[in-house]
Amino acid sequence: MAILEVSDLKQYFYLQPTFLGKLVGGAKPRIIKAVDGVSFSMQHGEILGVAGESGCGKSTCCLAIAKLREPTDGTIRYKEQNISEMSKGEIRNYRREVQLIFQDPYESLNPRYTVFDLVAEPLRALTDKNKTEVRERAHETIAMAGLTPEEYKNRYPHQMSGGERQRVGIAQALVLEPKLVIADEPLSMLDVSIRAGILDLIRDLSERMNFSCIYVSHDLSILSNISERLMIMYLGRIMELGITKEVITEPYHPYAQALIAAVPIPDPAYKRPIPKIKGEVAQPIDPPPGCRFQTRCLQVMDICRGTEPPLKEVKPGHSVACHLY
Ligand code: SF4
Repeated sequence: MAILEVSDLKQYFYLQPTFLGKLVGGAKPRIIKAVDGVSFSMQHGEILGVAGESGCGKSTCCLAIAKLREPTDGTIRYKEQNISEMSKGEIRNYRREVQLIFQDPYESLNPRYTVFDLVAEPLRALTDKNKTEVRERAHETIAMAGLTPEEYKNRYPHQMSGGERQRVGIAQALVLEPKLVIADEPLSMLDVSIRAGILDLIRDLSERMNFSCIYVSHDLSILSNISERLMIMYLGRIMELGITKEVITEPYHPYAQALIAAVPIPDPAYKRPIPKIKGEVAQPIDPPPGCRFQTRCLQVMDICRGTEPPLKEVKPGHSVACHLY
């Protein structure tokens, strides 16, 4: 049984025209299609990597899955239940089982709370544990995140480094023993020197606690390290989805090929191939009919300009949205 099934998820934002625009030209609202028909499913214990440029809709997708934003259309099923139809009690349980690790450990922690309070708060808010149980579970989770409880429990966020704060963020997300964790670029604000330690921590804990994880990043070398399947998004749609190793070594979609060709190789003698891509990232406002990638694709055909390519399986477990296949 899949733990999560997302079907035809859409998240649109409407830009109202200015008063002058309405007066002069009868301007109409414009639509930002941040997520536009995204469908995928996840199995228990799986780590799904989500990659794409800024503005491709990966974080917006995560907010809808975390039930922090109501989608415009589509369904999200968690353990076969539509999350839009959950009762208050079921939503409370969903909040316990689905947790977020945020991108920015500087902004996401309440500066007035100590480490102990930051980690204990979800237990106080969402469980019936007594004081002793809350203290024991909070200490245990702080230690699991790689911090010594006695040393850190009374510290405030400003008394810690970025890596230590992110460990507190991870402890906060895991203290309730979630079944699904959404990690939205958890390393992007950290120094390169501490990224490996945090990445290892997330991978180790996902194995030990057996939670599923949606890991969002624009860094393919990180995703190739941590995820079992990889989903590549562009302007609100999935371009390619498959086993990470296959997508990295044998990408089908021209956008996936360009992204993978752009991953830095730590070899000064290596001659980088010219990226097979042109132009700038298009805007998700009123996207043109047909393929979203048409303005940047060197292999664009007539059909690409009028018909949106569906995501279809090109080999077992590997799907691509491109008219070339
Ligand atoms: Fe390029 Fe056409 Fe494929 Fe889009 S559908 S990626 S424009 S070849």
